[in-house]
Amino acid sequence: MRTPRSVILASGNPDKLREVRTILPDLGFESILRWKPGWETEETGITLRENALLKAGNACLATGLPAVAEDTGLFVWALGGGPGVYSARYAGPGCTYADNVRKLLNALLGEEGEARRAEFRTVAALVAPDGGEIVAEGRLEGFITLEPEGVGGFGYDPVFFSPELGKTLASASEAEKNGVSHRARAFRALERSLRELNPRD
Ligand code: IMP
Repeated sequence: MRTPRSVILASGNPDKLREVRTILPDLGFESILRWKPGWETEETGITLRENALLKAGNACLATGLPAVAEDTGLFVWALGGGPGVYSARYAGPGCTYADNVRKLLNALLGEEGEARRAEFRTVAALVAPDGGEIVAEGRLEGFITLEPEGVGGFGYDPVFFSPELGKTLASASEAEKNGVSHRARAFRALERSLRELNPRD
């Protein structure tokens, strides 16, 4: 697959869009076209990889342009890796970020130290109209705090403590989060794979 100059960013989540639109320009894509309503993809996959490929594949099909998408999950040790691929719907259909955070803190009541270890994983996918696909993963290790801290970010950020940053992701600036995040690492890895394929692009 050649390195596309323009890509469609296939996400309906405004919080992810904001972050990815900051991350992508540093990676050599010159033009990033926004997702349009109606491309919503049901996340029927049982892995992050399947869901990322589904979302990017549908947007590519709908537009005839190369499309990128990502799928993210929070994997918590004490929960056997849950909520994992089901992180968005953890507290049930139509739940809010706050519902998910509340359910997570309740599920971890009485758990201490290593049991609160957790990891964000993002799988980013690029699908091209010629059928070419590139998939890459990024991870961020941390711990689930006892209570929410910070007002930035989104989702589980207020309860995810990053030892690398020394604070929760919600207490970090957007630049600090993008400097270490699972999402930024996944897109950087995607760009590295593209560069290996096309060293001269
Ligand atoms: P999905 O990738 O759209 O399936 O979303 C997974 C869910 O994980 C989101 O709804 C958020 O609740 C959460 N999530 C995804 N990325 C992040 C992040 O960077 N920080 C905190 N929570 C996140």
